[in-house]
Amino acid sequence: MALADWTPRLRIEQAGAEVLHRPARAVTPEELQSEAVQRLIDAMFATLVGVGVGLAAPQVGVGLQVVVVEDPPELHTAVPPELLRDQERVPVEAHALINPSLIVDDSAVAEYFEGCLSVDGYRAIVPRARRVRVQALDRFGEPFEREASGWYARILQHEVDHLAGRLYLERMLPRTFVSVTSVAGHWSNLPVDTVKQVIG
Ligand code: ZN
Repeated sequence: MALADWTPRLRIEQAGAEVLHRPARAVTPEELQSEAVQRLIDAMFATLVGVGVGLAAPQVGVGLQVVVVEDPPELHTAVPPELLRDQERVPVEAHALINPSLIVDDSAVAEYFEGCLSVDGYRAIVPRARRVRVQALDRFGEPFEREASGWYARILQHEVDHLAGRLYLERMLPRTFVSVTSVAGHWSNLPVDTVKQVIG
């Protein structure tokens, strides 16, 4: 990588920071074309690499409706294949969503452990809709609409919640909240039913 291509990682706000607890505002067409917002999107992608699969602008201290998502195959090697299959987790290419909205048109719910870069060091089982439809603008201002299921649907729900000022803490099964450094942290790779028998 050439030095000129290097983008520094942004600092990630932690739960309690005001920006994480209030709704973000929509990006205007002019703002989206601005160098500032385009650089923000690049920096958010750079910040995500190797540490997560989605990031919302409030997490880097910016109260705008901007989300970046990328779930590359490299991140899947640490997850047991049967869990990947259960979670319906498949690679998702890097893309930005501006002013996204979600439509849940399937009542099926999936329960899995999830974490958040803004609640560092913890995980909990969070029920989420299995399938959603998302409408948003891409980073160039073009409208797009997509169906998402499984893990990708979970990522979108988690990130769009951030834009409404919500953390997964409001949606989790509270008794399943665990530290990743505890023995229970390893439970995130076990079937949810097994975990719920113990702590759910
Ligand atoms: Zn998060």
